[in-house]
Amino acid sequence: MICPHCGQNARVFLRVTTKEVKPEGETFLYHACPNCGLIFLRPIPANLSDYYADDYYAYQTPTGVEQLADMLPYQENAKLELVQGYKANGRLLDVGAGYGGFVYRAKNAGYDGSAIEMSPRCCAFLRDHVGVTTYPSSDPAATLATLGSYDVITLWHVIEHLADPFAMIDAIADHLAPGGIMVIGAPNPDSFQFHLFKTRWQALEAPRHVQFIPGRLIAARAESHGLVTRLVTSYDAMSVRADYTYWYEHFTAPFANPTLKRIGRIVGGGLRKIAKPFEQRGERGSYITVICQKPAI
Ligand SMILES: [Zn+2]
Repeated sequence: MICPHCGQNARVFLRVTTKEVKPEGETFLYHACPNCGLIFLRPIPANLSDYYADDYYAYQTPTGVEQLADMLPYQENAKLELVQGYKANGRLLDVGAGYGGFVYRAKNAGYDGSAIEMSPRCCAFLRDHVGVTTYPSSDPAATLATLGSYDVITLWHVIEHLADPFAMIDAIADHLAPGGIMVIGAPNPDSFQFHLFKTRWQALEAPRHVQFIPGRLIAARAESHGLVTRLVTSYDAMSVRADYTYWYEHFTAPFANPTLKRIGRIVGGGLRKIAKPFEQRGERGSYITVICQKPAI
């Protein structure tokens, strides 16, 4: 299979049969490019949107912004703090905003927030409760091409879902204001847990995760448009939290029995301590975060 990023021949890396994603029992192939490190799903199912069943969103529908503010507060606050460290105000666009846990906080922190989102249910919530300008779209690169420029464009756990992620980075580079930043957080194909757990990696989520892009490739694509890389890390607060959670989930999720869950928690916790030095060396954490900035004029 030809790598969609660099054109080299890539081999099958994983054969995944779905369990959590409906319909169950379908098999998907991830290929690994030996040249650029991209891990990508091929063929991409033509009906990819069918794998976003309504319950992908419905199970977490907040009743209002008070409940939204209580959802994943650690992660959402960590995102905001990270962004504020590079660009403390201005026009912010959150791509794949979901119900808006992040853009809600950004708005409250003084950003002029807006969102692109494909779920009608989430779009309605963003408009009616969060109160940000919302662009409904399942093709965010094409939608961004019709918009103006932004000081901050964020994609939290979104780029791995896109059929053409590099077109998205191109569009972002085109729509950043001078001094503006692109912030991309995504599952890390170089992560220690991915290479250890493979088809049982907690962040795999086939076929909704179409590819896993090494942080250096995301940065290189942005740099090809003149952006400057400010951060590539798998050791930010969100990634460390994910590493921690995944060790526990890996050993507790398969069990319904409380005793087995308790044993799983002890095993997961112990292995997490052993693995910690490996996950913290290099960029081997579960998530990679990349921040690139357009030079100020
Ligand atoms: Zn490649």
